[in-house]
Amino acid sequence: MLRIGGIEPFSTVDWPGKLACVAFLAGCPWRCPYCQNHVLQDVRAGALDESALFSLLDRRKGLLDGVVFSGGEPLAQAGIVDVAQRVRELGFCVGLHTCGAFPERLRKMLPYVDWVGLDVKAPWDAYDAITKRAETGAPVRESLEVVLAAGVDLEVRTTWHPDLLGVDDIAVIAHDLASRGVRSWAVQAYRHQGTTGELSPDTVYPSDVPAELPVLFEAYEFRRA
Ligand code: SF4
Repeated sequence: MLRIGGIEPFSTVDWPGKLACVAFLAGCPWRCPYCQNHVLQDVRAGALDESALFSLLDRRKGLLDGVVFSGGEPLAQAGIVDVAQRVRELGFCVGLHTCGAFPERLRKMLPYVDWVGLDVKAPWDAYDAITKRAETGAPVRESLEVVLAAGVDLEVRTTWHPDLLGVDDIAVIAHDLASRGVRSWAVQAYRHQGTTGELSPDTVYPSDVPAELPVLFEAYEFRRA
């Protein structure tokens, strides 16, 4: 049984180009200071189960392109693989937002996934300062390699708060992603609303990343708060 914290019945922003419902799964092992769904870090925050999702899909057949599994970290729950398969069998596409903490489970789920939004939060050796957990860069790097090898449509996203990542860090991330074959990268400006308030809200952002970085990708977007 999945533990789901909430379901957004219609979204045009969680899966670029698709009209999807979003299931926010509870549970995440990490503690990023910019987390916007921190109440869902605890798996006990999931008061719904997948029957609520399938009931919605039953009513929305023909109206939705697909389902996005978000969180929390959706892959923290083993049951997601079977649920994704069932969603696919009903004729819906499957999108996945993930932090990349569970590469083995990701590998099992990818046959039922049409699109992945993967967070790459920092240069690999600087990951733990953001996630507040040990040795968190390596599994994300493995998850990235798993998705690229599978050829599943991928957008990598990096959340930028200048107290956490300098311009040099952003450049390291961009060059690493491009060298691995990532074609779509989005940088998301930190949003204070919904966080625990650990980070300064008064951040002044550069208007964008340095100009030599976006051209490394086929698709690039700077998303402002
Ligand atoms: S990995 Fe995502 S859900 Fe988990 S704490 Fe970080 S931002 Fe929040």
